[in-house]
Amino acid sequence: MNIASWLEQSARSHPSLPAAASGTRVLATYAQLAERAARQAGALRAQFGLAPGERVAVVAKNTPAYLELLYGIWHAGCAAVPANAKLHGAELGYILEHSGARVCFASKGVDDEIAPHAPKNLEHLITIGGADYQALLTADTLPLTPRAPDDLAWLFYTSGTTGRPKGAMLTHRVLAAASQAYANEVDPVSPGDAILHAAPMSHGSGLYIMAHVARRGVQVVPESEGFEPEEVFALIGAWPRASMFAAPTMIKRLVECPAACDPENIRTLIWGGAPMYVEDALAALDRFGPRLAQIYGQGEAPMTITTLSKQDIAERGHPRWRERLGSAGKPYASVEVMVADGEDAPLAAGETGEILCRGEVVMPGYWRNEEASRAALRGGWLHTGDVGAFDAEGYLHLKDRSKDLIISGGSNIYPREVEEVLLTHAGVREVSVIGRPDREWGEVVVAYVVGRAAPAELDALCLSRIARFKRPKDYIFVDTLPKNNYGKILKTELRARDLRAMDARKGGTPKETA
Ligand code: AMP
Repeated sequence: MNIASWLEQSARSHPSLPAAASGTRVLATYAQLAERAARQAGALRAQFGLAPGERVAVVAKNTPAYLELLYGIWHAGCAAVPANAKLHGAELGYILEHSGARVCFASKGVDDEIAPHAPKNLEHLITIGGADYQALLTADTLPLTPRAPDDLAWLFYTSGTTGRPKGAMLTHRVLAAASQAYANEVDPVSPGDAILHAAPMSHGSGLYIMAHVARRGVQVVPESEGFEPEEVFALIGAWPRASMFAAPTMIKRLVECPAACDPENIRTLIWGGAPMYVEDALAALDRFGPRLAQIYGQGEAPMTITTLSKQDIAERGHPRWRERLGSAGKPYASVEVMVADGEDAPLAAGETGEILCRGEVVMPGYWRNEEASRAALRGGWLHTGDVGAFDAEGYLHLKDRSKDLIISGGSNIYPREVEEVLLTHAGVREVSVIGRPDREWGEVVVAYVVGRAAPAELDALCLSRIARFKRPKDYIFVDTLPKNNYGKILKTELRARDLRAMDARKGGTPKETA
């Protein structure tokens, strides 16, 4: 079972349907994409001598070439290692070394970043679109290399907000199960439907490639190679029934973009990867109508743990609609999800604990990291590190990652519940709540706010909605919040900044506040 067989099937049944486009320009039909992938595979085998199972890195900005690369690598029976092109050269060097890749394809410019950090195992660094790259596409085609369901297909390095990234091993089975879950429960795809890749293809957006190849959709990569709201709107106008995966911060930028957008052409806007505040979800619903869906997942169970359906999001008349909107939805039919206590025993609805899951979408482990694999998969369940609770209806409410939990005066405070309240103030554009070490309370609640508002008003708002002890003791107004390349707010970084600022204010040493 080689996931690349879906491309062969689509090329056979719908050879002349568009498969890949750059902006509004079709670059390859299904027949052409399948041929390019088979030639790419021929070059990997004949010119580089790569055996099935070897890892091939792709460090690229969003580009239509991602498609022929991924499928070429799989066609040859190799595993792809897509890495975020915005990482530092040293970080990329680590991923290249750890994965043991002998070949790396990189965007122009990114290749220079990698070169000084290239590990010994890397024999070929090929610039995508360059002369060497074009030559590979003239190689003789290779027949599809058979693979077993448990063979490695995608080595997914976690975004690593702390520590070294770990490589989640995504097998052909995992990718197939995640793609089927997407098409069944999030967003059914029909031939000719478009998927816009404005979020990184090395991550969330890339995981939607396979479902669209299986169902003969067209993959549209913006010419800007990234996310520009105006361009996204223009592409939505140009492509039929377009879907797009976006981080909540991207959805927010789309909502705020003054350019015109006819939502009629949108099939589904899927958000995930980070919390979406209810206020932001409501604004998106007002602007785009009943075309939003949410997914919750992580690299270890790629994009597939729970989903909040389009119907649930749009069902304004339902008595629990607003509460559901604040949840991450229900488990996919093919995934078992448990909220567990410290001993991995299931907790009742309403009780908060760590979220565990198991099923075909879960990775079998981390690449070359036995210890982390055993810890993450103990007892046969993936320990997500996320904290949440099921409600009585079976909707999962995510709190925050356990390390973000604030404990003040012995009480637990989840930053998100405070953030949700602060965001209802018209002057608050973005907010992140953290804990600051405190001698008396253990930690106190501090809110970093982008926007304008009087602290007394924010205090009054909190007092009207949440327990007094959850109210921030300090509001700090900033222009921006620290975010990683996927738009996730980096609380660890914010806490470190806050400590430094406190030290500077007190003129003390870090020890005083640690
Ligand atoms: P990554 O493996 O980099 O994709 O990060 C996965 C993490 O992002 C999860 O473990 C969650 O903490 C967070 N996350 C993913 N989806 C959602 C969501 N829908 N709502 C809130 N947090 C999410």
